[in-house]
Amino acid sequence: MFDVVVVGGGIIGASAARHLAQSGASVAVIAPPEPTTPETHTGPFGAFHDVSRLSRRLYAGTVENELSRRALAANPTIESFSDTQVFSGPAHLFVSRPEDDEGLAEAVAALPSGHGVNVLNAKELAQRWPEISLPSDVVGFLEPGTGGALDPRALVAAQLKGAIASGGKIFTQPAVGLNLDRKNLQTTVTLADASTVAARKALVATGAWSNLSGLLPRPVALRRKTEMVLLAELDPAEAQRLANLPVMHYVIDHPAASDIYTVAPITYPDGRTMLKWGTNTTADRWVDTSEDINAWYRSGDSDRMVDALRSSIEATYPGISATAWHTQRCVITYTTHAMPYIDILVPDLLYSAIGGNGRCAKWADPMGALAASLTLNGKWVDDLPAERFAVDYTQSPAVWEGRDLLSDRKNNLSG
Ligand SMILES: Cc1cc2nc3c(=O)[nH]c(=O)nc-3n(C[C@H](O)[C@H](O)[C@H](O)COP(=O)(O)OP(=O)(O)OC[C@H]3O[C@@H](n4cnc5c(N)ncnc54)[C@H](O)[C@@H]3O)c2cc1C
Repeated sequence: MFDVVVVGGGIIGASAARHLAQSGASVAVIAPPEPTTPETHTGPFGAFHDVSRLSRRLYAGTVENELSRRALAANPTIESFSDTQVFSGPAHLFVSRPEDDEGLAEAVAALPSGHGVNVLNAKELAQRWPEISLPSDVVGFLEPGTGGALDPRALVAAQLKGAIASGGKIFTQPAVGLNLDRKNLQTTVTLADASTVAARKALVATGAWSNLSGLLPRPVALRRKTEMVLLAELDPAEAQRLANLPVMHYVIDHPAASDIYTVAPITYPDGRTMLKWGTNTTADRWVDTSEDINAWYRSGDSDRMVDALRSSIEATYPGISATAWHTQRCVITYTTHAMPYIDILVPDLLYSAIGGNGRCAKWADPMGALAASLTLNGKWVDDLPAERFAVDYTQSPAVWEGRDLLSDRKNNLSG
């Protein structure tokens, strides 16, 4: 019997597994691999099945900034377990109109001197990046030297390798059941091949599938949204021309898109070089069943948004010449307070680390460390406020403020 079984070896689960194993606990990780043929895969998928994630540091909130500080400190350790580079890229750039800056101007003003964040107006941004066209009233927050991008696949692989190096054991069949023996203080996970894994405690980190796999005694408050990324396939000359583009989060004003996240062109595993243009879209919808989630990943109709979204990237990168346009699909899992539920679900037996809110790749390691600490100690011992990560079971709409669909926001605006 293991000390801890981690169900879900994705961005947060794999990170928790390394911290648990390195603490000396015997750890099992239920980590179904990324499918080799996603178009026929029956699930589960993972929100890390991708080549890049943005790693912004600067936030208005103290908890967010502390998570970013901890994440940055962990980078060298994670790199040490990786065969390929995990953290890369130039600085992260956040661009928006002043009224949409998420409180960053105030946050920068409050930073101690020597913080190094450059605040650039539209003219300075254009001088620095002549390839980019932005409205004249935007402001840019440039965080130098922070490695604005990461490879989520490589990060998960490195964390799992770190867990294995400390004796962790990986199981590749998905979990289909979790039994809690409160009398003998034992948990038993049943896998899809009917085999079982027994452990003293269980930590559930199954992302979008958390309420849908029969693993939790009661559903937690989650909303899952379809997410898509537009990909511009580039020939070598065009990729070279755009090679200097920043890692950028751009609060764009566009009829069909919002909250753009983009990185410079990257060569994908299939050899094609693509410029990623991630975005919320007016076609985004809620997905509520495993089948709906898996069907979206497999073959969702994301391509129907290509024409509507092209104007957003073509306006921002004038003259961009793509040899082809593609889309990629994923799912964002929201909690009611925009932080993962890292909490006790059944005292001394069952723990959770659920809900990335579209922003936990950058905080993978500190979230994993928090989940590991809670599971090992059976109580919250960290300095960060536990209530920011507390589980919520309420399903009332009121608690979902700010995490609505772009189409709803646009409709409300147009009244
Ligand atoms: C398109 C897109 C872009 C994003 N961009 C960014 C970004 O730029 N920066 C950033 O910080 N964050 C970003 N995110 C968010 C980030 O990827 C997520 O917050 C993070 O992946 C969530 O981690 P997780 O461990 O909760 O879920 P996941 O990474 O999805 O891991 C959950 C794992 O559980 C497994 N699982 C599910 N059910 C079972 C089961 N029954 N048995 C066993 N295993 C199971 C799944 O297969 C998966 O491997 C983005 C997300 C998306 C979708």
